[in-house]
Amino acid sequence: MLQQTQVKTVIPYFNNFLDNFSTLKSLSLSNETNVIKSWEGLGYYRRARNLLATSKILINKCNSKLSKNIIDIKKLPGIGDYTANALLAFIHDQPTIAIDGNVKRVFSRLLNKNERKIDFVKLIEINKKNLFKTKRNSDFVEALMEFGALICKPKEPKCTQCNIKNTCKYFRSNKKFKKKKILKTKVKNYNIFCYIDKMKNKIALTKKHNLGFLDKFYLPPIKESYSNKKIKNWNFHSNFRNSISNKKLNINLYYKFSLKIPPQHQWFSLKKNNEFIPSFTKKIFKKISKTN
Ligand code: SF4
Repeated sequence: MLQQTQVKTVIPYFNNFLDNFSTLKSLSLSNETNVIKSWEGLGYYRRARNLLATSKILINKCNSKLSKNIIDIKKLPGIGDYTANALLAFIHDQPTIAIDGNVKRVFSRLLNKNERKIDFVKLIEINKKNLFKTKRNSDFVEALMEFGALICKPKEPKCTQCNIKNTCKYFRSNKKFKKKKILKTKVKNYNIFCYIDKMKNKIALTKKHNLGFLDKFYLPPIKESYSNKKIKNWNFHSNFRNSISNKKLNINLYYKFSLKIPPQHQWFSLKKNNEFIPSFTKKIFKKISKTN
């Protein structure tokens, strides 16, 4: 849940998820619809699908145990280098560090060197004797992340309160390295087309769309657009901006009243549905419901 998402955002979703699936076993016995429903609103739904798939593998093929071998862990759905190392440290207390943005920042400041000029894997390997002195490696890794989040913060690090300031080259240097500005995410333009059955208060949705990050979810037909021209046979409704996952969308919303819909589309009530509808689609429901 914490991938690309802040702790304070995750907490209520995490508690709700644990209320529904309190054990690995109960999760593994569930299905995609129920798991996605418990994840509703948190976005990046691929994480929920991967979690469900992983729970089934662990229960059915691994005797409910997570391997201590990083190669085996990385074979589990959705688990890359970072998560595999975090699991090894947190669950098996192994001497390894999950290198996230916070950890990179702390090391790069300690060395007063740009992150892009550091080979972190090599750095950790060379310094492993000093880094892994503790027998509580899981606490060490968590503390390192927290230190980056709370003390050695991205902007205005709390150097005067920092208990390693005397060994920090960034703090001691008169020539502090400067981080290059991260390029802003480009906004992409999309047109969304809403077929509306006015009498029944319904809208046509499809899972056949090219919006990869909402893959397998119902949306009205959506197409990337390259111009702001009027679109024949469609009424312009409104323009709005939306961020989904790490994408920024500039959306022109169009509608037409119609009883005919393209193949692979289905009618959905604008009020209540049993199927899971992503919050992005619900936002469109809200806007389009006011159409006369
Ligand atoms: S002294 Fe400042 S820059 Fe250096 S590690 Fe501590 S908080 Fe970070």
